[in-house]
Amino acid sequence: MSNGLGAQFIAVLESLGMASRLRQGRLAARAGQVLSMSLSTSVVVAQVQDGARTHRCRIGIKAFTKPEWVSVEKALSGQALFTARLLAGEVPYEMFADLGLRLFPDDMRELAMDCTCDTWDMPCSHLAAVCHLLADLFDQDPFQALAWRGRGRDELLSRLGELRRTTRETPPIKGFWHSQQPVTVAAPEHVERLDAVLDELAPLPLEVRGERVADLLRPAYRRLRTPRGPAQS
Ligand SMILES: [Zn+2]
Repeated sequence: MSNGLGAQFIAVLESLGMASRLRQGRLAARAGQVLSMSLSTSVVVAQVQDGARTHRCRIGIKAFTKPEWVSVEKALSGQALFTARLLAGEVPYEMFADLGLRLFPDDMRELAMDCTCDTWDMPCSHLAAVCHLLADLFDQDPFQALAWRGRGRDELLSRLGELRRTTRETPPIKGFWHSQQPVTVAAPEHVERLDAVLDELAPLPLEVRGERVADLLRPAYRRLRTPRGPAQS
């Protein structure tokens, strides 16, 4: 499954001047030259093979600050839908935008890349190959992008659980299931004729063997019993 996050990560890197390196890196990544890759908070470490040599690559990112994480956690715990989307592999982009945050940096100074090869023009093709694998990882699981920004999935989910337990009321989702008028439902004892509900509905454009569906349902409705006794017929 792709949530588009990987493509967005690559587009950001291209805009930061890595376009030609990324083309070389894609070939290396597709050829399986990235032997291993591990992502922990704020840093990715990978082993990349190039001929007879294996290089060690590191890609660090500036973690969200503590106040930034507090605002992310508040937003996620305030709207369960955001967390549900993350768990489903989607990214609630509007939430990050509303908080003034970006998952990926738009400045090379927020990224730190190094490799044990002797390429003088960094980032090298090895680092670019790792970026492609990282993009694939973000496509599969947006929590990995959040982990890179400093908060692992388990830690984040447990903090959200704590926040929900300490929050008595969850603000309603804006515009969702909002009615201007209170909805009233008649209690059974106030219903004079139980099949009357069929006459309240717009005519169903359905017929079974020449009879209207509402008329076919009428006897079944009349057989319903109220707490006071048999329904009127
Ligand atoms: Zn390198």
